[in-house]
Amino acid sequence: MTVAIIGGGISGLVLAHRLRSRGTAAVVLESSSRVGGNVQTRTRGEYLLEAGPNSFLDREPATRSLAGTLGLETRIRAADAAAKNRYIFTRGALRVLPASPPAFLKSDLISLPARLRVLGELFSGRGPRGVDESLAQLGRRHLGREATTVLLDAVQTGIYAGDPERLSAEATFPQLVKFERDHRSLILGAIRAQRAAREAAKGDGAAKPQLTGLLSTFDGGLGVLVDALAAALSDTVRTDAKVEGLTPTPDGWRIQARERGQPVELSASQVVLAVPAHVAADLLRPLDAPMAATLGAIEYAPMAVVHLGFAPGTTPKPDGFGFLVPAVEGKAVLGTIHVSTTFPFRAQGGRVLLTCLLGGTRRPDVVARDEDALAALAREELKAMTGLTATPELTEVVRWPRGIPQYTVGHLGRVASLDGQLKRWPGLHLTGNAYRGVGVNDCIRDATRLADALG
Ligand SMILES: Cc1cc2nc3c(=O)[nH]c(=O)nc-3n(C[C@H](O)[C@H](O)[C@H](O)COP(=O)(O)OP(=O)(O)OC[C@H]3O[C@@H](n4cnc5c(N)ncnc54)[C@H](O)[C@@H]3O)c2cc1C
Repeated sequence: MTVAIIGGGISGLVLAHRLRSRGTAAVVLESSSRVGGNVQTRTRGEYLLEAGPNSFLDREPATRSLAGTLGLETRIRAADAAAKNRYIFTRGALRVLPASPPAFLKSDLISLPARLRVLGELFSGRGPRGVDESLAQLGRRHLGREATTVLLDAVQTGIYAGDPERLSAEATFPQLVKFERDHRSLILGAIRAQRAAREAAKGDGAAKPQLTGLLSTFDGGLGVLVDALAAALSDTVRTDAKVEGLTPTPDGWRIQARERGQPVELSASQVVLAVPAHVAADLLRPLDAPMAATLGAIEYAPMAVVHLGFAPGTTPKPDGFGFLVPAVEGKAVLGTIHVSTTFPFRAQGGRVLLTCLLGGTRRPDVVARDEDALAALAREELKAMTGLTATPELTEVVRWPRGIPQYTVGHLGRVASLDGQLKRWPGLHLTGNAYRGVGVNDCIRDATRLADALG
């Protein structure tokens, strides 16, 4: 059996690696000249920049096991203790996100009545059964309007850059929906889950928190993982190979591609689409228009990334991991990662590196601006929010017209439909960040699951 994997992002690479380790032949076809997809680490002088993801939580067993298999355990770097605090920009100031319930009650993140309303969550009821609620609906029922607008909006912005009125609660924060289902109250559910995790940790001697995990990367950025996978798969990956068509055959699939500009055809017994949903839709439209329509309904949030690097001594080292900006503040900046505080090795010699994320579904227009305009917008809003006035020695802008998939209301139904529609096409499979989780960990977990099902 040969599995043709279309798309050499982290999903496609992990799938190929796992299949190979199980003795199944695989070939990865990647349209661009490099593998890794969204994962793109670049060195610029004394700075290590991430164009896409910056970090992952070290709690995912599939990621840990992958790092172990690739011999990368010793290269994992957890966030510095100085990154402990996280901030939210609200009511004209950066305010720390409280780390415990007593700290929350004392904090000025939201008003006193709103904090008391959050306490009232202990008495809140369950939502309607069988309804795919929006994140904002779930949030308002449990936490009240202000906490939803400030707190929940900021938290989802940090992951989805989306609109809580449109995101599905169950598809984006399944744990919250499970807490409600099992315990009625989110707070009670969280307390009980934490208690259970502590008990489990006692049992196996594990020291790390199982619920949250530690924010981590590798000593050379996330590109270390991609490079290790690419090296292990050197004879399996074909770059500059853009797949343009698929045809079912009696014993599998024919794949039409353009490799280094030349048309080529390949045969495989199984095909996995590890490409963004809109690319999968384009490839499948001639075969299955309804399935293409389901795939095409998965939207993406456009994003821009602006890296700003500051020479030693030109600006103070900012505290904490960074800050998030709720939509109600009306900013184009969604949040800023204090990269040099979180991972000091990513800015050498006492330099300060900030990575601003802009746009999202709240301001899709900004991503179309040219690079100078985006950098100027980021600096202008940073100045207004944090008082930062120093001139950066490094500015780099990356645009993601289709950045993060949006799991809007109906997403789980769409994924279930896709599972049904795939049954019409034996030997065809989907994986990637569009379906069962948008993070690097989710992609690794889903690709591992699929490899185990196939190999
Ligand atoms: C700005 C940004 C910040 C993020 N931050 C984080 C973070 O901090 N932590 C985290 O966990 N996640 C983060 N994410 C999400 C994470 O990066 C992605 O979910 C993950 O990398 C997606 O991997 P993938 O392989 O599924 O898809 P992709 O990376 O999109 O890979 C798909 C691949 O398919 C290729 N392709 C497309 N069309 C074709 C074709 N016709 N033929 C062949 N190949 C094709 C593409 O070139 C690409 O390489 C971030 C994403 C973005 C955009």
